[in-house]
Amino acid sequence: MALHQDNCEICTRVAQCRDGSHLGLIAELDTGYAVLGDSQFFRGYSVLLCKEPATELDELPHAFRVRYLEEMSQLASAVRKVTKAHKINYECLGNMVPHLHFHVFPRQLTDPAPLAPVWGQMPSGDDAAKYKLDASRDASLKSDIRRAIEEIRTAR
Ligand SMILES: [Zn+2]
Repeated sequence: MALHQDNCEICTRVAQCRDGSHLGLIAELDTGYAVLGDSQFFRGYSVLLCKEPATELDELPHAFRVRYLEEMSQLASAVRKVTKAHKINYECLGNMVPHLHFHVFPRQLTDPAPLAPVWGQMPSGDDAAKYKLDASRDASLKSDIRRAIEEIRTAR
């Protein structure tokens, strides 16, 4: 059974969202923080960091779990709307960092390998720097996704 780590990267990022120092912060939701992913190779790639340090969905109380999944779906809808994605890929892995977090990847038919999973596709080395989250370049992307989330949440 995967245990929550003492030095947890997601807890660090949640703390950065709370103190305003997370460069990718899109919005605080009820159960988590929506942030842009570190790599924007898949432009609009976002993550929902769970506010609770649970490692499995079934550790969350039922109402919180349902709300967390609903908010993940809201983030995905917002990313799809803003990026006009062909398909959204949802990933909740946690093999390296077990603290619950959902990856939301917008996929386009113009992706280099549109039928393949995202993992292994994001560039490394010098190429990776080009796609690294950039607070200034990605500011409007963040605000567009934030606005789309607000619209989705008020439309219910
Ligand atoms: Zn954690």
